[in-house]
Amino acid sequence: MKIAEGMKRCSKCGEVKPVGEFGKSKVSKNGLQSRCKECFKKYYEENKEKIAEYRENNKEHCAEYQKKYNEDNKEKIAEYRENIVIINKEAYNINTAPEEMKPILKKAIHLKNLKRDLRQNMNKIKELQENIR
Ligand SMILES: [Zn+2]
Repeated sequence: MKIAEGMKRCSKCGEVKPVGEFGKSKVSKNGLQSRCKECFKKYYEENKEKIAEYRENNKEHCAEYQKKYNEDNKEKIAEYRENIVIINKEAYNINTAPEEMKPILKKAIHLKNLKRDLRQNMNKIKELQENIR
């Protein structure tokens, strides 16, 4: 049976559904998951514990991956952090924050940088003091 364009058959339930009903996949040829979202959800619900267990067992691997990611993206992450301000437990990015918040965020970032510089200088002083002793 021919499947109409923009439609796809789910490999699990066999139903033909619009491609929008399928999640995206980086590994498959057409860029879509072979199972529809509904089947995926069902699978996830049924295997929640297994998936959690898998994650638990692969924690180290994930940590390793995270570490490598952080290493590779050090500058980007640092730049991202520079632009983030936490106010009342809410994170604001100065680049995406509403216009009226920007002056406050700018001040907060300035303060944050001052604190960082101060901390660095304190460390330097400590080092010097230890050398004198
Ligand atoms: Zn399905």
